[in-house]
Formats: sequence, C-alpha cells, structure tokens
Amino acid sequence: MLEDLFNKVKSRMADAPYRESHSEVNVPKGLWFKCPRCQTVTYEDDFEQADKVCPKCGYHARISAVERLAATADSGSFREFDAGMTTLNPIGFPGYEIKVKSLRQETGLREAVVTGECLIGGERTVIGVMDSRFMMASMGSVVGEKITRAFEYATEHRLPVVLFTASGGARMQEGILSLMQMAKTAAAAARHSDAGLLYVTVLTDPTTGGVTASFASLGDIILAEPKVLVGFAGRRVIEDTIRQHLPDDFQSAEFLLEHGFVDQIVSRKDMKSVLNRLLRFHREGGAK
Ligand SMILES: [Zn+2]
Repeated sequence: MLEDLFNKVKSRMADAPYRESHSEVNVPKGLWFKCPRCQTVTYEDDFEQADKVCPKCGYHARISAVERLAATADSGSFREFDAGMTTLNPIGFPGYEIKVKSLRQETGLREAVVTGECLIGGERTVIGVMDSRFMMASMGSVVGEKITRAFEYATEHRLPVVLFTASGGARMQEGILSLMQMAKTAAAAARHSDAGLLYVTVLTDPTTGGVTASFASLGDIILAEPKVLVGFAGRRVIEDTIRQHLPDDFQSAEFLLEHGFVDQIVSRKDMKSVLNRLLRFHREGGAK
C-alpha cells in the first residue's frame, strides 16, 4: 500500500511541470493554499511545486512521510523495513484500535513512522520519516521498535542513519510501554554511535516530548527546517512551573541554533543536497 502511494507521489512530482494546469476541474477544496503565517494565498499547484513552502514568507508546511521520502530518496531506491508491523492495544485503552484503524485508512500508513533503506544522491543510507498526521506521530511501541530496528540494521551493515523527526511525544494510549521506547531507541542510537557510524537528525514541525528527549536529540549532526517547533514540555506548562515569561521565539529552531542545540537550519529545497554532502563527507573510507 505504501509502495503504491510512494509511486503515486513520485509520478505526480515527475509529471507536474507538464500537466495541464486545469486538468482537475472537480476539486472543491485544496485549489488554493492560504499561508497560516503571512496569509498569502497561493495556487495549490504552485505551492506543491515549491515543496509546500510559502513563496512569500518561506513557511514550511508539514508534509507526509511519503512526500518526504519522494523528495529525499533517489527515485526507485527506497526499500521499506517492517512494513507490516502494527500496533496492538497493550493496556486496553478505550477506542485505541478504532482510532488507529481509521488513521490507517486516512493516511495510507500503518504507523507514525516509515523506515527503510535508500540512496540519497547515490549514498546508501538507512532512513526514517515520522508523519504527524498519524496520532501526531506519537511514539508507541511500534514507532520505537521500527526506529530501533532501523538503527540495528544500520549498525550491522555499517550504514549511516538519517531520521526526520516529528512528534507530539509519547503515545499515552500505550502508557508506560511508550515511555520505555525512549530508553530503547536511545540505546540503539548509542550502539550505532559506538560503532563509529554517522547519525543525522532532521527536526521537522513539531518535534516535542519523548521523541525530543530521546533519539531526536542524539544526532551527531542535528539539522532543522526553518521555524519548526522543537521542545520537551509545552510553553504554558514551563511558564506555570517556573513562573517566568519565556522569550517569544523559545522552542523555535532558530532559538535552538543560537543556543547550540541545532547545528544548521536547512530549507526544504536544499535538504537533499545538504544531506548528500554530509553523507559523502562521513562515508567510510572518505569521499571519492
Ligand atoms: Zn507565508
């Protein structure tokens, strides 16, 4: 199913410049995109062509895992890991199965992260992409397991790992089991690091909670898209706890760059080439 979606996005991206601009007449919604930041209205096709970045203010809209993979992996190179892995309802949380089932139909995904192996500008890489449409990409046992297995595969095959993070945090519907994923993913990332291998994190909007507090913060190199929200607890919770007003740009990628937590802010159009360069520099045996 994911393979179909992936091919569809790929072909849409490839065909887009040649497509008749009014070929889809029966489109009641989604014809226009209104930027939530600067309110500029853009023709949806132009917005899609610009990788869902506002042409006026550079606002980076959230994109799906499939769109992210299509923009990052070399054409036809992506091979998915653990595609069939699905979540159970380990603590019997009411309504959880129904929620997951409807999200599967809505998004075409089986869980909130897609992992696999691909080429990025010819560089063999293990990749993981979180998708905020699936329960705010919260980390439950499947997300944690897929990330862990991706690291283990990369360690075994001596490959770098690139993870695009996005998450609302731990998945409360799985209780303590979701919190355990923090230690598990962090341990897998540490073993990968101990093997001398490269791990690059790309923080996308929003990266918060237990994901920030585990594998998202452990990259050897931490990149971020412009203006993304990155944090652990929410602003109000912190303000209420410490009884102080926080700076306006607190928890933005720019604030984190200034304070040394983020290494570079990279716009979406440059992301693939920056990743390719980093992977080449750190390739075993050196860049050719
Ligand atoms: Zn804008």
